[in-house]
Amino acid sequence: MKNILSIHRQGEGHWVGDGFPVHTIFHYQEHPELSPFLLLDHAGPADFTSADKQRGVGWHPHRGFETVTVVFEGEVDHQDTAGNGGRISTGDVQWMTAGSGLLHKEFHSEAFTRSGGRFEVLQLWVNLPANSKMTPPGYQGIVDKDIPAVALPDGAGTVRVIAGEFAGVKGPARTFTPINLLDVSLTAGKRVRLHLNDGYTASLYVLSGKVLLNGQEQASGTELVILDRKGDELTTEASTDARLFVMSGEPIEEPVAGSGPFVMNTPQQIREAFKDFHAGRMGKIPAEAA
Ligand code: MN
Repeated sequence: MKNILSIHRQGEGHWVGDGFPVHTIFHYQEHPELSPFLLLDHAGPADFTSADKQRGVGWHPHRGFETVTVVFEGEVDHQDTAGNGGRISTGDVQWMTAGSGLLHKEFHSEAFTRSGGRFEVLQLWVNLPANSKMTPPGYQGIVDKDIPAVALPDGAGTVRVIAGEFAGVKGPARTFTPINLLDVSLTAGKRVRLHLNDGYTASLYVLSGKVLLNGQEQASGTELVILDRKGDELTTEASTDARLFVMSGEPIEEPVAGSGPFVMNTPQQIREAFKDFHAGRMGKIPAEAA
């Protein structure tokens, strides 16, 4: 059994640009033990009124890690200076490898801007191992239909496998280190045993609902539960219908130095990142969008 180490309430919220009202669920400075995961932001759920001008966050850089954006409701447009772009909607996932560095912008899609409506997105930052921090930037646009949904026994719910594996079913995301990312929907009144790897970091974020974990501790939306690396199983009993975002991975046991949009191994590499960004070596904002 993976023991529960701690449960954390959501803190103060803040805005990222004018499109993302987020709560930071964890950050590597407070929770280095969650390696390879660096940060989790929960945007919304929030209701946006219809508008003419797209809301979001303009051009900004990243280096040294990956951003994983999971859309629960709404629609987000992405464009980056590595030449990638895409639109992700409800159920889709965007897996962006910043690697050696790029600039990107993230905005509500034009259609969502016009219609308005409910908006809810998670963004997870996944660290890269030292030998891959300067890998060329990459982009995986993963659509809902490519994410397998595993039915749990006894009608207990479903598990969408975004990355890694669950019950022998593999998720579509390519990762640099072993990671299991699961979007778990649980049915009220049902009990489930989730297998998680012994030795892997494990945590879960309760998006909504209420669950009893290991028959001991209650967690409810929007709490973060940090589990022990030791052990290989977690039992959940849903008191209400519930949705959990389960993050598990092999820890990267390397030094972490970060500042703002850059996460590297040493302070010297962070100074280089700022220098490279200001010199335009991470890419230049396309002229038509400047
Ligand atoms: Mn970003």
